[in-house]
Amino acid sequence: MDSKEVDVAGNKLVCPVCSGIKFWERKTQLNTRGATFFGVDWANRNANNYVCENCSYMFWFHN
Ligand SMILES: [Zn+2]
Repeated sequence: MDSKEVDVAGNKLVCPVCSGIKFWERKTQLNTRGATFFGVDWANRNANNYVCENCSYMFWFHN
């Protein structure tokens, strides 16, 4: 897997810590087993994480 530049809402994502522009992408499932019964679909969502290649600062974007 390669790190890459990331655009969010038309802007380039820049690390606030080290000003890096290359990030690893990873997806995190936010639901937990047992919380997926009917009526709680907000719990079924995913988050996109972008982890700065340089300093490991992690962004969270809730889908
Ligand atoms: Zn950084």
